[in-house]
Amino acid sequence: MTENQARILVIEDEPTIIEFLRTGLKYEGYEVIIAPEGKRGLDLAEKGNPDLIILDLMLPDIDGIKICKKLRMEGNNVPVIMLTAKTSVEDKVSGLDTGADDYITKPFSFDELVARIRALLRRSGHKTETALLEIEDITLDTSSMEVKKNGETIHLTPTEFSLLELFMRHPKRVFTRETLLNRIFGYDFSGDTNIVDVHISHLRDKIQDKPPRLIRTIYGSGYSLNRDKE
Ligand code: CA
Repeated sequence: MTENQARILVIEDEPTIIEFLRTGLKYEGYEVIIAPEGKRGLDLAEKGNPDLIILDLMLPDIDGIKICKKLRMEGNNVPVIMLTAKTSVEDKVSGLDTGADDYITKPFSFDELVARIRALLRRSGHKTETALLEIEDITLDTSSMEVKKNGETIHLTPTEFSLLELFMRHPKRVFTRETLLNRIFGYDFSGDTNIVDVHISHLRDKIQDKPPRLIRTIYGSGYSLNRDKE
């Protein structure tokens, strides 16, 4: 089954978030187009034929609400996820009033965003990737959130599930602790990267990952899911 690669337009001016989204979305296999200001974003939304737009509310020139309204007035129904730093109920409502399909409040975690993206792409008829991931005797079902080993259900915390899903989607890729932290906890998480080791350790216990391990520690780098001989 081939995945239909969706093209995502990111209209956002904050460099940290741009990098966070660019890296993360590319990992997920999406094509990413970046517009660091509103006018350019609007232009790309009209001419670049994106499958989905991640639109920041506060931009240096035209704000996100105006961009979204203009697109809808032009009859453009591309799914839009609005990024907003505001948390009041009124702002959420006004965000949705503009024709945005969903909104997400900063700070957000990458997993949360990807879940929204997948849901919107599914709704708009975009083919999404296979729901069932499999490696050796472990299966992970991304729609039912179920993990099994030898057919027996394993109970993982949401963080452990996210980590395992990430590894299973990208076998052999080496993830640094920083990348894993960003992915699971969001770009502004400022805790100790050792927290990653703790979650990995719990995950290994639960999936009974004994040496030679499936989830390998890559000395000086991070972690990688790899079954090849070392
Ligand atoms: Ca902004």
